Amino acid sequence: MTTALELTRLGYSCTILEATSSAGGRNRTIRAGDIVNETDSSQTCMFDFDDDLYFNAGPARIAHHHEFLLGYCREFGVALEVFTNDNRAALMHSANSHGGQPIVSRRVHADTRGNIARLLSMAVNQSALDAELTAADKINIIAMLRNFGDLDGSLNYTGSARGGFPGQEDVGSRQRGERVNPLALQDLITETFWQQRQGFAHGLEQQPTMLQPVGGMDRIARAFETRVINDLVADAQVTEIRKTANGVRIVYNRLGAPTQLDADYCICTIPATVLRNIVNDFSALHRAEIANFNYAAAGKIAFQSRRFWEQDHNIYGGISWTTQDITQIWYPNNGLGQTSGILVGAYIFGGSAGVNFAGQTPQQRINGALAQGSNLHPEINGQAARGISIAWPKIPFQLGAWGTSNPATLLTPDENIFFAGEHLSILQGWQEGAILSAYHAIDLIVARDSA
Ligand SMILES: Cc1cc2nc3c(=O)[nH]c(=O)nc-3n(C[C@H](O)[C@H](O)[C@H](O)COP(=O)(O)OP(=O)(O)OC[C@H]3O[C@@H](n4cnc5c(N)ncnc54)[C@H](O)[C@@H]3O)c2cc1C
Repeated sequence: MTTALELTRLGYSCTILEATSSAGGRNRTIRAGDIVNETDSSQTCMFDFDDDLYFNAGPARIAHHHEFLLGYCREFGVALEVFTNDNRAALMHSANSHGGQPIVSRRVHADTRGNIARLLSMAVNQSALDAELTAADKINIIAMLRNFGDLDGSLNYTGSARGGFPGQEDVGSRQRGERVNPLALQDLITETFWQQRQGFAHGLEQQPTMLQPVGGMDRIARAFETRVINDLVADAQVTEIRKTANGVRIVYNRLGAPTQLDADYCICTIPATVLRNIVNDFSALHRAEIANFNYAAAGKIAFQSRRFWEQDHNIYGGISWTTQDITQIWYPNNGLGQTSGILVGAYIFGGSAGVNFAGQTPQQRINGALAQGSNLHPEINGQAARGISIAWPKIPFQLGAWGTSNPATLLTPDENIFFAGEHLSILQGWQEGAILSAYHAIDLIVARDSA
């Protein structure tokens, strides 16, 4: 849709052939009554009808520096609100440590910093870093470390109010003033999970402030669709991409009838997983890259639930992490304070957990997510119901979540056929990447026509 919108603005006339009934692709929000068809199952969303009860099954957050996507939101009047990625009241859970009990994120952050600051200040004061630091640097870094780790006057770490007080994670606790006992350094470094997960929100794409459209991510798709609606042919499944003497010929099925369209250029944004099975005249090099392009096997599941995370644990938005297959639990950032909310009970990025998830029936996914989720939130069993899942490797016309191979040949046109889509960008797995790849294809076409 970006390509059609911008090329039209440049004076080209475009036709968008979209296989499904509406454009948007992975930008998909599921609400009451919506149907999720996978290659071997079908589910109906049983949420209550309510503007705040929605599930962003694909993209759900936007980085504040995804400026082209945010620029379209501004231009189209798509209202935005803050998306909380990192919530210190959320949980971190490893099945293998702390007796399998989840730890509230604020403790992990406070105690990791405290332990690091204590060790580093010890090294500085024992002159272990004299080759690196001047006398002034040593004074300055000690001052910084005292604040970084909340060390006491003797540069010891004995816990911090930053970690909260005993019972802090449960509503009704009144023990303010007492400090929770600090976690030992060894408990924070022995597993990859603890070594890496708390750094998640430091990544450039994950840093605050993050945003989401008010009412669901598909507000963006619908806004785009409105702008290109006259050029959009829905329910048009491309079956052949051919080269002609002067351009391209696209064969597509529309409501059972084969149709063909001749054009000067084709910009193909079909995911490589789908494209590899479409009849084509591509060069051997293009065909090989399409055939071998890898995709992540991501999946999600959502439940309608009483907002026990808010009401019982003071968790408003954000993400809990676990070593179990479900990987993440997401709390809604919208409708705060209401009775019901949509809890994302699993967000699996891929790997064997993603493949397993895709291999399960929808009911097996629900059972698994509730069983694993109850290790963080026992309430999930009684409160979370009406689950609906999506396994992107099994969604027709997608067959994968996002590209993970490095694109090369596909960045160059094959005669009059150009390629675009998130998988061909430097921001794979992001909507901004899909837009950037559209701009790349447009630049190539404009350069050719200007030559
Ligand atoms: C689980 C998940 C989480 C994500 N999280 C985020 C996030 O938080 N933030 C973010 O910005 N991005 C996120 N993304 C990535 C984002 O969704 C994608 O990068 C972006 O939507 C891809 O856009 P696209 O135009 O390249 O492809 P698509 O949106 O997939 O568009 C391809 C289109 O081609 C159509 N098509 C396929 N085959 C045919 C055919 N034969 N004939 C006609 N049409 C066909 C499809 O129906 C589809 O409409 C996430 C993706 C997933 C799956």
